[in-house]
Amino acid sequence: MKDLFSVAGKVALVTGGSRGIGLMIARGLVENGVKTYISSRSPEACDAAAAELAQHGTCIALPADLSQMEEVGRLSNELALREDKLHILVNNAGAAWGAPIGEVPEIGWDKVMDLNAKALFFLSQALLPLLEAAGTRADPGRIVNIGSVDGLAIPKLDTFSYPASKAAVHHLTHVMAHALGRRNITVNAIAPGPFESKMMDYTLTNYRDDIERTLPSGRLGSPEDIAGTVIYLSSRAGAYVTGVVLPVDGGSLVASEMWRP
Ligand code: NAP
Repeated sequence: MKDLFSVAGKVALVTGGSRGIGLMIARGLVENGVKTYISSRSPEACDAAAAELAQHGTCIALPADLSQMEEVGRLSNELALREDKLHILVNNAGAAWGAPIGEVPEIGWDKVMDLNAKALFFLSQALLPLLEAAGTRADPGRIVNIGSVDGLAIPKLDTFSYPASKAAVHHLTHVMAHALGRRNITVNAIAPGPFESKMMDYTLTNYRDDIERTLPSGRLGSPEDIAGTVIYLSSRAGAYVTGVVLPVDGGSLVASEMWRP
């Protein structure tokens, strides 16, 4: 039972690891001894985040635009040139699009679906050989998909493609867990509630007080909250957990008073 939650010595890739929730997860992994690759579109932001995290362990930037299929292939090839095993894949990169129902443009659907759902699937597919090489029956390879409470409940703001994409992530998690269990890979999703990030800038600028007042936890999520969940799912302690969608939301889904803008 000793070191049950240890992830030291593993290799991870965190997409969207340059800021926000992805950076929180990457920091937690790096500080707990995981050789961590982070990816995002901006090479500058990705390099800067990796340089900062490298002060606490091993972190390497591999920039890629995952909305493009060629880039999904290039990222997985670059990783395969550097590593023969990938223990942890965190599919975190995501985007949202806000507009009233009558004004959602096609790009506001495609951009969100392509990154949040399609790229998540095809990057996982491309990295299966490395994940399979890392996994054993007792300590499988891990895919952790970042969904959202908005994929489980009606969102507070008008974002139609976003909750649809996150519901897709959640059910894809179930389906992939079923497909990959015998290949020694677990697939789980985390459905975060509100965490401080660029994506949440508008919401928090306008509704932070309402959110904190109505959340049972009374506060936003912290880096420890999200990193701790990924570490649990990626450690020996989480080895028998697969196909779950785990809300990490301070109780937003069980709040008796729903925050409304
Ligand atoms: P964020 O601050 O906007 O970060 C998004 C990350 O994804 C950045 O690193 C960004 O870097 C990267 N990214 C965006 N487009 C990309 C692309 N085409 N290819 C590769 N990387 C791309 O958002 P966040 O709030 O941390 O969100 C992270 C995940 O958590 C998302 O899946 C989001 O849906 C989910 N989530 C967040 C919350 C919350 O409260 N924050 C709640 C529920 C779920 P570049 O711009 O440089 O590419």
